[in-house]
Amino acid sequence: MSNGFTVAIDGPAAAGKGTVSKAVAAHFGFAHLDTGLLYRAVGAKVLLGMDAAVAAQTLVPDDLDDDSLRTPEVAQAASKVAIIAQVRAALLDFQRSFAARAGGAVLDGRDIGTVICPQAQVKLFVTASAEERAKRRFAELSGRGIASSFEAVLADVRARDARDMERVEAPLRPAADATVIDTSDLTVDQAVGAAIAAVDAVRGSG
Ligand code: C5P
Repeated sequence: MSNGFTVAIDGPAAAGKGTVSKAVAAHFGFAHLDTGLLYRAVGAKVLLGMDAAVAAQTLVPDDLDDDSLRTPEVAQAASKVAIIAQVRAALLDFQRSFAARAGGAVLDGRDIGTVICPQAQVKLFVTASAEERAKRRFAELSGRGIASSFEAVLADVRARDARDMERVEAPLRPAADATVIDTSDLTVDQAVGAAIAAVDAVRGSG
């Protein structure tokens, strides 16, 4: 299905996927797509009153370039629209074309290795305990001046985990052949190093 070299990186919210994906893309000179932004952009439009399927079918790249997509409200809205089959179907082709681009691509999300790019050359599942992920997300939100409490962030993380893992359409789970990287006790450099090593292992043997 894909002509290019594809790295699929899945995992739950705030596990470090974004950081690892950007670093892997920069290291190998691959393009990077944060697929969560697609669902966030649809969620943001639904919060403004638009129908979810219509929002997904009419999404344009400019919709992804918006700092307001990074709020907890939009994250929850994203995980609610993400259970809708028409929404997921509308976003499929864009993600697959991105994955197939010449020069290599890194896609991060929830179902990249299982549904979007089951043929990806490298599949990683980046995870961490809910408490550790909430700690990181709380620090990130505080740093950006977004008021919250640790308890509220932990509750948000758990609610999103449950919705993402228990849905019928493309539930969050590692692909059978994914390399799992648990970042709970890893530094950023260690997590990035493990991901780069996994890509090198495949490229070296290719
Ligand atoms: O990764 P991020 O936290 O930005 O994703 C927001 C939400 O979008 C997730 O909680 C999930 O419900 C949904 N999502 C998805 N499939 C993807 C990426 C994100 O269902 N590939």
